[in-house]
Amino acid sequence: MKYNFGFFGKKTNLVFYSILWILGSCTSAPPPSENTNYPPPDNSAKEKPTLLKDTTPVLDTTHWYVYLTFDDGPQPGTANCIQICKEEGIKASFFMVGLHADRWRAGKLLVDSIRQAYPQFVLANHSYSHANNHYRYFYQHPHVALADFEQAEQVVRPNFRIARLPGNNAWGIEHKEKSHHLVAAVLHKMDSIGYDVIGWDQEWNFRHTNSRPVLVPDSLVARTMHLLREGKTRIPRHLVLLSHDRMFSRPADSASLQRYIFLLKQQPDIVFQTIDQYPGVSKTPLITAHTF
Ligand SMILES: [Zn+2]
Repeated sequence: MKYNFGFFGKKTNLVFYSILWILGSCTSAPPPSENTNYPPPDNSAKEKPTLLKDTTPVLDTTHWYVYLTFDDGPQPGTANCIQICKEEGIKASFFMVGLHADRWRAGKLLVDSIRQAYPQFVLANHSYSHANNHYRYFYQHPHVALADFEQAEQVVRPNFRIARLPGNNAWGIEHKEKSHHLVAAVLHKMDSIGYDVIGWDQEWNFRHTNSRPVLVPDSLVARTMHLLREGKTRIPRHLVLLSHDRMFSRPADSASLQRYIFLLKQQPDIVFQTIDQYPGVSKTPLITAHTF
């Protein structure tokens, strides 16, 4: 059975993630040595930027790009999403809510682990309050919305200025907007401070009574491949899938996520990518002043 590991061969993939795990676990400096003949310092830790550079894909027309995105974390289910993506050796993006991180100490640690797992994962901004679920008011007051995203930035510290609007499938990339007129002013403000706003091509819907997925993974994969093959995505050959962390808190449902990934891997030329690699995304870093 052939597995597709994206741009990495299977062995390269294992080595790559082994290096990442090693780098991630090295939290203390080596003990000082007075031996002047000490061998040249091991610069492996300095290779991390090179690793990041190497992950930049060459986008071509022979692959199908799938961007798994998980919204509203940290929530119950976030840890399962992290674990499954690591087990499967795939990339994914997490759009996180500042309020959820502030209210859940363990959740904040999950946020930190996602940020530090770049480039396997990308941590992105999904607002602080999630508009308190009063979307119309939120979008009718763009200065309130912008301040809300900036507040979230202080809490979750996303890898880049990449965001998703709460409760609205809007796109704002390369200063071009594709959205409902209600959110246009917010998109404009986000763009003015360097944010790219990401919508979605396909949603894995859930039951609002219990947050459980509606579609079984086999049906979802069929729909994913149909959208890709028919060019029914914002950019042909690139599909952004929206799901929510809380959909995968139960073992049976996290198994569905794993099966969806497994089935997609059986499809030829599928590449899982993070949202910073989506065409046109500018990967604007946070302004230093905002991190103090
Ligand atoms: Zn949301």
